[in-house]
Amino acid sequence: MSSDHAAFVDIALPVPLPNALTYQVPIAWAPLAKPGARARARIGKRLLTGVIIRIHDSRPERISEEITLRPFEEIVDREPVLTPDLLELAEFMADYYMTPIGEVIRSMLPSDLPPWGDRRVRLTDAGALAMPRSAEERLVLEALRETGRMTLAELQGKVGIEDLDAVLADLAEGGKLSGEALKPRSTRYVSAVELAPGGLATHLAAAGRSAQGKAAIEYLHAMGRPATTAEVAAAIGCTPAVLRRLVSLGILRQFTQVERLSMDRHMFGMRDERGEPLVLRPDQNQALDALVRVIQRKEFSPFLLQGMTGSGKTEVYLRAAQAALDAGRAVVLLVPEIALVPALAREAEQRFGDQLAILHSGLGTGERHQEWERVRRGEARVVLGPRSALFAPVTDLGLIVVDEEQDSAYKQEVDPRYNARDLALVRGRDAAAAVLLVSATPSMESRYNIEKNKLEHVRLTVRAGQGSLPEGILVDLKEEGLSRRPGEVHFSERLKYEIGVNLEAGEQIILLRNRRGYSPILLCRACGEDHRCPDCGLPRTFHRRERKLLCHYCGSTISLPSRCQTCKEEALEPVGSGTERVEETFKELFPEVPVDVLDRDTLRKPGGPAAVLERFARGDVRVLIGTQMVSKGHHFPGVSLTAVLAADAYLGFPDFRAVERTYNLLTQLAGRAGRGDRPGRVVIQTYHPDHYAIQAALHQDDEGFAQEEMRFRRVFHYPPYTRMVQLLMRDKDREKAWGAIRELAADLAAHPLSRQVRITGPAPAPLERLRNEWRFQLLVRSAAGKDLHRMLRDVVPQNPAVALVVDVDPQQLL
Ligand code: ADP
Ligand code: ZN
Repeated sequence: MSSDHAAFVDIALPVPLPNALTYQVPIAWAPLAKPGARARARIGKRLLTGVIIRIHDSRPERISEEITLRPFEEIVDREPVLTPDLLELAEFMADYYMTPIGEVIRSMLPSDLPPWGDRRVRLTDAGALAMPRSAEERLVLEALRETGRMTLAELQGKVGIEDLDAVLADLAEGGKLSGEALKPRSTRYVSAVELAPGGLATHLAAAGRSAQGKAAIEYLHAMGRPATTAEVAAAIGCTPAVLRRLVSLGILRQFTQVERLSMDRHMFGMRDERGEPLVLRPDQNQALDALVRVIQRKEFSPFLLQGMTGSGKTEVYLRAAQAALDAGRAVVLLVPEIALVPALAREAEQRFGDQLAILHSGLGTGERHQEWERVRRGEARVVLGPRSALFAPVTDLGLIVVDEEQDSAYKQEVDPRYNARDLALVRGRDAAAAVLLVSATPSMESRYNIEKNKLEHVRLTVRAGQGSLPEGILVDLKEEGLSRRPGEVHFSERLKYEIGVNLEAGEQIILLRNRRGYSPILLCRACGEDHRCPDCGLPRTFHRRERKLLCHYCGSTISLPSRCQTCKEEALEPVGSGTERVEETFKELFPEVPVDVLDRDTLRKPGGPAAVLERFARGDVRVLIGTQMVSKGHHFPGVSLTAVLAADAYLGFPDFRAVERTYNLLTQLAGRAGRGDRPGRVVIQTYHPDHYAIQAALHQDDEGFAQEEMRFRRVFHYPPYTRMVQLLMRDKDREKAWGAIRELAADLAAHPLSRQVRITGPAPAPLERLRNEWRFQLLVRSAAGKDLHRMLRDVVPQNPAVALVVDVDPQQLL
C-alpha cells in the first residue's frame, strides 16, 4: 500500500447539515478514496451514499481529539463521478444558495448511477483449482474460495487491492472467474451472430430443409458482416429459435456485442445534405473570432452574444464549439427546456457526430447511463441538455454556451435553487473556459453586467437569410366589444382575417396561449362553486379531454363532475380558455385545417414534443397552438403568422419580472414568423396596447425597452440593482407559520448589518395557500450582496421549527 493514500475523507451526505462529515478511511478502501467518488457511510444507524469532497493525509486539526472518527463503509465508484471543478462548484453553490452541501451534490448527479461495487463475481471450476500467479491473485482466489459469490465491494473490502478490476480481468481471461461484475454495467449487450467459416453452399446444405434457416444464412452472406440476432430475425421475419438451431448445427457462431443505444429518437429533423457550408457575415465572423481567441488562450472570458431571432447566433456558437473541440477542449451547450433539445441535437450531431452526448431527464435509464458514461470517459466531448447538463463530468472544458440565457427555466425551483446561467459563469471561471450567454432579449442581469464590464458584449446586427422582420399588428381587445372575464380568449376579427389570408397562401401559423388545459375555471353558474383545490386555495383547471379537474400548483386531480357537487344543479360552465379550448375554437372557425397542440401535457404523450414538432416541420400540421414552449428556439421556415391571444396574461402577475417576461415572450414569438423567404406578421391581442413592453416588442425597440425597464428596477430597488433573497415559511398551522416569519423578521431587523438591507414584509406570499400549507414571506434586498449574505448566514436558523425556503435570486415569487 503506497503512503500517498488518504487517511481521512470528508463526505457530503444527503442530510440537512451545512458541512461534509469526516470519516476514517478503512485500509482496504484507501486506493479508491479519491475526491469525487461516491462513498457509503453511516450517520447514526442510517447507511447513506454521498460523495467524497476532500481527502486528508492525517486527522484534520479542526476536529477535536475527543471525537472518534468512524470509518466509512465502502466506496461506490471505481472512478470519480464529479470532476475537481464540479466539486469546487458544489462548494460555491452550497455557500451562495445556502443549501446543505450534501443536497447540492446529490442534485448534481443522475439519481440512478449504478454503483461499481454491487456486481458479483464467483470462481469457475477452473478457478477453484487455479494456482495464483501473483500475491494479488492469491488474495482474490482465497477470498472467493472462502466465501463463494461476492460483490466487488465485499471483495475490495476484504483484499484491499489497488487495481482490483485489472486482477479480476486477468482471472476472467483465464476462465477462472465468471459474473456480471466483469461487464461494465452502463453498456448493454446484445446477442449477435456470424457465419462460421466454410462456403455458402456447405452452410445451405447443412441447414437442411428449413426455408427460414436458409434465408438467415443468405442474409448474413449477402451482408458480409455479423448482425445482431434482432436484426436478422426482423429482416427475414423469423423467431430467434431458428437462429439458435443454426448455432447448434455449427453453421452460425453466436457472440455478444456492445450495443450503443441510438439517440435518434431524441433528435428532430432530417439530416440535411448540406452542400457548401454557410459563409458567415462579417458581424458573425467578428463574434466568432473573439470567442476562438479566448478558447485558444485558455482563460476565463464571459460573453453576451446578442442578436435578434434568426440573426445566426446558433451558427456562431456551434462554430465556436468546433473550435473548442479542435483545441482539444470540451463543450457544454445548455438550452432552457428539454423541448428545445431535439432540434439543436440534430444540428450538433451533424457537426460533431459521436462526440455529442445528450443528457436530460427525458432519456431512458439505459440511455442516460450510456451518455453520462461516454461523457465521463471522455468519448463524448460536446454535452447538450437543460440546466442539469451543466454538471456533466467533462474535463478540459473550453466553452459553455447558455442559449436563451434570459429564460427563467434556468432557475431550479426546488433546493438547491440554483440558476444554471449564473453557475455557468462560475464553472467557466474555475475551468478557465469561455462562457457565452446567448439571447435576443438579454436578462436585465446580463445587461447590467455589460454596463459593469463583467461581460463582453458581442452583437449580431443583421437578420440572416432573406427573412425580414415581421410586421407587428396590434389588436386592442377593448375595442372588440367582447366580454372581459379574466382569462377569456378571443379570436378578434383582425386575427381571423390574417389567419384566413395565411391559410389561403398555404403557409403555417403559431398561436400562443399561456395556459394549458381547457379552461382555468369550471364554474357553477347557480352557486358560484369554482372547484378550488382545498390545499392550494385556487380553482382547478378543467382538462376536458382527460375529463378531470387538475390543480396546476400541486397536481391533485378530481374527475369531472356531471353536476355541481355543492348545489346539485347542472350548471357547470367553463370560464376562460387554455390551449385545449383555443384548439376547439379554432376548429370551429376553420374546420378541416390540421392543428396540433404543444404544451407541458404533450410531454406525456407518445412521441412527446419531438413528434409534434416533426409533424409541424413536415407541414402535416398547419397550425400549432401552445404555451411559451412554442415561442422558443424553433425554426420553421413555413411559418409566416404568429399571434399571441392575450398578451396581458403575464403583465398582471405580482412579480417584478412580469413585464420583462411579457416583452421576452412577445419578441420571441415575433421572431418565429417569417424566417423563410417571406416576410411574416405577428398579431398581438391585448387590453393594454400602450404598455411599454408591448410597444417595444411591436416595434422591435430593444434599447427602448431596456432603458424603461432598467429605470423601473433602479427606482424601486429591484434586481439587478440589488441582490434579492426570498425567505418563505410554510406550515399547515397558520399561526405557527405567521409567528415564525415574524420572529425571523425581528431577528433580521436587530442585526447590525440591517441598515444596508431593505426588508419587505412579513406578508402572505402571492400564493398564500399551497399544497395544504399557509405561506408567508419576507423579501430582503441589498445593493451590497455580500452584506446580505453575511447577515442571512448569521440570522437564518439552521434547523427552523417551521419549514423555511431560502431562495437566493428568486425568479418566481409564488
Ligand atoms: P438564431 O440562433 O440567431 O435564431 P440561427 O443561427 O438559427 O439564428 O440562424 C437562422 C437561420 O439563418 C438558420 O437557418 C441558419 O442556417 C441561417 N444562417 C445563419 N447564418 C447565416 C449566414 N451567414 N448566411 C446565410 N444563412 C445563415
Ligand atoms: Zn392544489
